[in-house]
Amino acid sequence: MANSHHSLSLLLLFLLFLSTPTHQHQSVAAEQQQQQQDEEESDNPITRFRNYLRINTAHPNPDYSSAVSYLLSEANLLGLHSQILHFTPSKSKPLLLLSWPGSDPSLPSILLNSHLDSVPAEPSKWAHPPFSAAKSPDGRIFARGAQDDKCIGIQYLEAIRNLKSKNFWPIRTVHLSYVPDEEIGGFDGAAKFTASEEFRTLNVGFLLDEGQANPGEEFRVFYADRCPWNLVIRAQGMPGHGSRMYDNSAMENLMKSVEMITRFRDSQFDIVKAGKAANSEVVSVNPVYLKAGIPSPTGFVMNMQPSEAEAGFDVRLPPTADPDILRKKISEEWAPAVRNMTYEVIEKGPSRDYLGRPLMTLTNDSNPWWPVFNKAIAAVGGKLAKPEILPSTTDARYIRQLGIPALGFSPMTNTPILLHDHNEV
Ligand SMILES: [Zn+2]
Repeated sequence: MANSHHSLSLLLLFLLFLSTPTHQHQSVAAEQQQQQQDEEESDNPITRFRNYLRINTAHPNPDYSSAVSYLLSEANLLGLHSQILHFTPSKSKPLLLLSWPGSDPSLPSILLNSHLDSVPAEPSKWAHPPFSAAKSPDGRIFARGAQDDKCIGIQYLEAIRNLKSKNFWPIRTVHLSYVPDEEIGGFDGAAKFTASEEFRTLNVGFLLDEGQANPGEEFRVFYADRCPWNLVIRAQGMPGHGSRMYDNSAMENLMKSVEMITRFRDSQFDIVKAGKAANSEVVSVNPVYLKAGIPSPTGFVMNMQPSEAEAGFDVRLPPTADPDILRKKISEEWAPAVRNMTYEVIEKGPSRDYLGRPLMTLTNDSNPWWPVFNKAIAAVGGKLAKPEILPSTTDARYIRQLGIPALGFSPMTNTPILLHDHNEV
C-alpha cells in the first residue's frame, strides 16, 4: 500500500499547492494591470477556473451540458478516459466521470468528487455579476460556485495536469466525478450514482469531496455530515369559543410541545455556548413554520380556538446521536398520541451505513488513508485543524453509506467562509 499512498500524497500535495490564497497585495499598479492582462490572455489555472465559473449552473435551471462540455474538453487535453452517465429518463442531469488509469487497476481506486451545480445568486446584491468571474486587483474572483465547489472541481484537474507534466503515473486508478443536483439533495446525482453498477465497477477505496474554507491558517477537514430530518408535528383538539378555558385544545397541545422542544434546543445550544462541542456536534432543532388559526377576510378569526395546529422543524443529527432515541423522544414527549398529536419525520438522507454503523470516517491510524492525508498536509508545511463534522450535508454521505472512507476537503486557508453568500470569492 505504501506506493499507492505515495500517489495520493502527491496528488494532495498538488491540490494544496494550487490552493494558495489569492489575497495578495502588490505595490505597483501598472505592473499589476499588465500582469492581469497577460494572465487573462493566456491559458492557465486561473483562466480555466474562471471559464468554469462563467457557466451558470445555479438552480433552478443549471446549465449542466455546457459545464460537462467544458470539463470534458479539458479532460481530453489531459488524455483522461471519460464517460457521461445519465440517471434520469430525460437525460437532463448528466454526470461526468473521468478516469486516470493506474498501473495496478486491481487495487481499490481513489475518487475525487465535486458537484456541478450551485445555489442561486441575487445579482443585485453582488459587487460584480455572479457569473462574470470578475477578478479584483487584489486577486479575488467573484462568482457563485467559487468556493462551493468549482474550486475543487478545477483543482483536481490541475493536480493531474501537474502530475502528468512530471511524468507521474499513479499505481491506483484515480477517478473524478462531476455530479449534478448536490444542492438539491443529490437524489438524481450522487445517490443514484453510488447505487449504480457503474459505481460498483470503479472499486472505490477512498473519496475526497468538498469541505469548507477557513479564515485562519489551518486546513479544515470533515469526517462526517449531519443528517437532516424534516419534522412536522400536528395537534388536534375540540374547537371552541375564544372566551372558553378548557383542556386539550389543539393550540394548547402544540404549544406544550413547542415548549418542550425549545427546552431540548436550549440544552443542546448550552453545550455549544459552554464551548464543550461544536455547533455541528449537537442535535440542532430549529422551528421553521407554525400553521394554525381560521382565516378570515381580515386575517384570522379571533374568537375561535382552532381544532388543528401544526409546526415544522429543521432537525440535524450528528452521526454520534442515536436516531432511535430521538424518535422515541418525539413520539413520547414532543408529539404524544395521548395529547392527540401525530408527527411525521422525513429523513433527508441516510444516517447509518449498510452495516448499521454511524456515517463517519475514522480520523485515526485505524483508517489507512488518514496518515497519508496527514503526511500530505505536512509535506507542504500546512497545518490541519481538528477534524470536524460538517453542520450541513454533502454527497459524501452516500459514499460513507457504502462503508467507504470519505473526507471533505476544500483547501482554502486565510479565506472567509462565503459559500451560499453574496459576493462568494
Ligand atoms: Zn457544495
